[in-house]
Amino acid sequence: MNCRVCGDKTIKAHLIPRSMCTEVQVGKNHAVTNSDAKYSPSQSGVWDADILCANHDGQLGRYEETALKAFQNLRSQAANKSFGSYELTGTDSESLLKFFAAILYKYAITRKELGRIELGPFLAPIQDFLFCQAPVPRFLDALLVRPLLSAGDTEVFAYRTPRPDRKFGRNIYRMMVGGVIAFVLIDNSPLADPKTMGLWIKTLARPKYIIGPADQFEEFQIPQKLIQKNDTLSAFLGKQERTFGRT
Ligand SMILES: [Zn+2]
Repeated sequence: MNCRVCGDKTIKAHLIPRSMCTEVQVGKNHAVTNSDAKYSPSQSGVWDADILCANHDGQLGRYEETALKAFQNLRSQAANKSFGSYELTGTDSESLLKFFAAILYKYAITRKELGRIELGPFLAPIQDFLFCQAPVPRFLDALLVRPLLSAGDTEVFAYRTPRPDRKFGRNIYRMMVGGVIAFVLIDNSPLADPKTMGLWIKTLARPKYIIGPADQFEEFQIPQKLIQKNDTLSAFLGKQERTFGRT
């Protein structure tokens, strides 16, 4: 198959960076959540060998490396802080937006069985932003949440692939990577949600993030429910079982 950007020969491209999948390792396996009901064991996450060449996958890989470090840093900065919003030091908003755009881009060009999302008219400007030095698209922004399981939590309990949602009165994609829940705006209408104004990262010199209790978010609630009713799942989720508890 040919690279979607340049037409060259493709290589195996990980949809969620391998480094972020392995952070969730439970023994050799970890849980992959791409729908509310589907979990599957995987050693390094899901890849698609038909979407990108080595050069273009490598370009996204650099954004991913920056984000991996930024989220590790975010998790240690967030430990033992109270719930609220904070500035994230050591990174900039555009780098993080490039990372979220890269994940959405790969999910928009992958196969349906791997969890494809539909970006429609937003796909081409995202491609230009990622590969052609175009400025951050008007419709793109992100809100970051660090869910804490306990006060000193610095761990990554799961990851979750992008899924469409409607929140803050706008169309968004939510995903969880690197221990951070990201609400990624893909909507032409400007944001107007009074509760979160000032926290969306695009216009901030230094990105901000919100710390909240993990059990308030579906990223925690869904695996918790599944583990409570599914013994096969909990059998290979040793760490998650301890994390989410059982009744
Ligand atoms: Zn290419």
